[in-house]
Order: sequence, then C-alpha cells, then structure tokens
Amino acid sequence: MRPSGRALRSLTAKASASASVFRAVDSAPPLEIFSVVAGFARDTHPSKVDLGIGAYRTNEGQPWVMPWVQRIEQLMGQDKTRNHEYLTFLGCDTFSQAATALLLGPESDVVRQGKAFGIQSLGGTGCVRIGSEFLSRVLNYNTAYIPAQTWDNHHRVMSRSGFTHLKEYRYWHPLNKALDFEGLTEDLSSAPKYSVVVLHPCAHNPTGCDPTQEQWDRIADIIQERKLFPFFDTAYQGLASGDVDQDAWAVRHFVKRELELFCAQSFSKSCGLYGERIGNLTVVLHDPDQIEKMRSQFRIIVRALYCSPPRHGAQIVSTMLQDPNMQEEWRACLREMAGRIRDMRHSLRQKLEGMKTPGTWEHITKQVGMFSFTGLTEHQVQYMKEKHHIYMLSSGRANMCGLNNKNLDYVASAIHDTVTQIK
Ligand code: PMP
Repeated sequence: MRPSGRALRSLTAKASASASVFRAVDSAPPLEIFSVVAGFARDTHPSKVDLGIGAYRTNEGQPWVMPWVQRIEQLMGQDKTRNHEYLTFLGCDTFSQAATALLLGPESDVVRQGKAFGIQSLGGTGCVRIGSEFLSRVLNYNTAYIPAQTWDNHHRVMSRSGFTHLKEYRYWHPLNKALDFEGLTEDLSSAPKYSVVVLHPCAHNPTGCDPTQEQWDRIADIIQERKLFPFFDTAYQGLASGDVDQDAWAVRHFVKRELELFCAQSFSKSCGLYGERIGNLTVVLHDPDQIEKMRSQFRIIVRALYCSPPRHGAQIVSTMLQDPNMQEEWRACLREMAGRIRDMRHSLRQKLEGMKTPGTWEHITKQVGMFSFTGLTEHQVQYMKEKHHIYMLSSGRANMCGLNNKNLDYVASAIHDTVTQIK
C-alpha cells in the first residue's frame, strides 16, 4: 500500500531531521605539526625521539616548569583577595608595561617619552592576529612580506586578518645553508611602498639564521627608504643568546633609527607558559597623542575576537618582571636553556663530523635558538621517522631541545644512516 500524503510528509520530515547539516563538511588540509605530534604519541617504539614540537625539553626530555613560576603560583593560590573577574579588553596594564620595557630596554627613550605602549594578547599568535587586524582594517594595508621560510601560521593569521596580498621575501640559501641576505635585500627593495614586512628579531623559526647587526642596519635602511612597516615577531627572546637584551637588539635598533613598529612578543617559550596564552603586542609610534585613539581601535578588534585575555599568565609574568630578584632568576633559567641548546648543537655536530657523515654540519652550530634547519630533505625526514622513529618537520626543521644526553648518539647515528642511504 502506498503511504498517504500525511504519512509521506512525516517520513520526509524524519529523514531530513536525521540528515546532518554537517554532511557536506570536508576535511581541512592537514596541519603538519598536529600530524607530527599525533604520530609521535601513537608510536610505541622505545627509542622514539620528538624533534618536531616547538617546546623546550629538559635533559630528561621533560617540559620545564621553572621554580619561580611554581613559587608565584603557590603565592597566588594562598592569596584570598584574588578573584577571577574579567580583565579589560586590552589586558593587564602592569603586565604590558613591564613586557614593553623588557623588549625596548630599561633605558628606552621612547618608553620615557610615552611613545610606546603594549597590549596583552593570547600568546604570540594573538599578538600577530590583533596587530595584523589593526594594520589591515584600520590602516588599510593589504600587502605583507613574509620570509619565505617562516612560522607556518603567519600566512594563515595574516590572510584571515584581511591581508589580500601575501608575498614572500627570500630568506634561506639552501646551498650555503645560511641566510640569503642578497635575496632578502633584493626582494625588500622591490616591495611596493606601504607594505608590511614581517621580521623575526632573533632565533628565526625555522632556519635558526639571524641577520648580523650590520645586516639589520641595511634592512632598516630599505624599510625606511621604501616606507615599509616593520612588524617584528619575537617568540624566542632570550633563547637565542641566553640574554633578553641582546636578543632584542634588532627591535631596539629600529627604534633608535626612529622607525614606528609593531612587535608581537610571546612568553610561551621564554617562560615555559605555553598553555597560558600570554603575549604582548608592543607598539612604537611617533605621536603619543594617537595612543588613546589606537587603543580604542584595538578594543573593538579584541572585543570581536575574544573579548578579553586570560589573567593567569599575565599575573605570573608581571609579578616576575617587577621583582628584580625573580627577574634575575628567570634570566638565569634562560641562560641555562640557551646553554643546553648550544651544547646539544655542538655535540650533534661533533658526532656527525666524527662519523664522517656525508655533507657539512657547521650550520648546526652557526644557527641559533630552538630550531635547526638541518638540510635533511622531505624524503630523508620520512625515512628518519619510518626507520628510526625520529620525528621532525618535513622541511628538515628539528627542535634541538628534543636532544639530550641519552638520545644524542641514537639521533646522530640515525642521521648518518639516513644521509648515507637516502640521497
Ligand atoms: N611566532 C613565531 C615565530 C613562533 O615560532 C611562534 C611559536 N611557534 C609563535 C609566533 C606563536 O607563539 P605562541 O605559542 O605564544 O602563540
């Protein structure tokens, strides 16, 4: 018997109630870092090594909660006056003033003259996002130059913030395994006026290659000549040289040359506060009268994105930055981390050269910061994973903090085997 009209309508209604509105969703392109982390977690091999994730690990292969962080958290736990009210849109002022001073230096003229301010945001990522939104939506910039090798999220964040023209400038010279300074200056010199240029002030991710001071000066010349806008992104302040002041040299030099700029400053790696999402966007400008207007625009941007930033990390970092003894303790932690990374670089190079591993390996010790751009090809990286259970990014980027005294020989022998077997 054929169903009646009413029954048919009810059947159709049931069918459409069970058909999901999400049935048309396709998988997004894979995020490489996510696949590397997941692949490592699934791997049950006892000798597996994680050189993928961008996080510090101790010589025991563990995350490091620094002692001063633990002490501040204990005090916070005992403080009966603490509450969990919202921070205002632009975050905690004491935090952003301290973070801005840390970036620009204790003697900074622009800080004294009120020509700099900071905004607390969600890690380095949040700072890049709100800074990009400001440049694109408020100032109508639509072109940004990003180093050809960079943190993979720059493209995504900036295009979603409204930049319609994202261009790359040359950065890495694969034959020299070093900075391609000629390529960089050529590309920036032909950038259209009023473009934004993204710059890593230290410990360039992923290459570990930074310009020298003379080269930074030349970059500042081009930026000045072509009226480009410098947008620094510093996620490793203190982890390149071990000294936060030295690692801020490029930004301070641009300020000395009277350039206006943005700088996204992350405390994820330098304080081991990855999950607390703590960062500061520093703005340096010529006219302090514009600050309140700029802050009002940032409020709208932040309100539409996430309303206000979290408290916890801001309280930890500002407590430390305002206490000279604790700040010194933090600086000692940075020296220790940078020193361990440097030691691992030297030992790895020494072992590879000792085994006469094909190729040259001095770039491993010339590069600075968390990452080494090893020069391993995508095919070799795949082999390292499948044969040796060692994980890194397909670009050949390896996190030097994933090395420790226990796995160093294993990793060096694996690299030796890989470059011997896979050309
Ligand atoms: N910029 C660069 C250059 C980075 O390497 C990173 C972290 N990998 C970030 C920004 C993001 O920092 P955060 O984790 O604090 O958001």
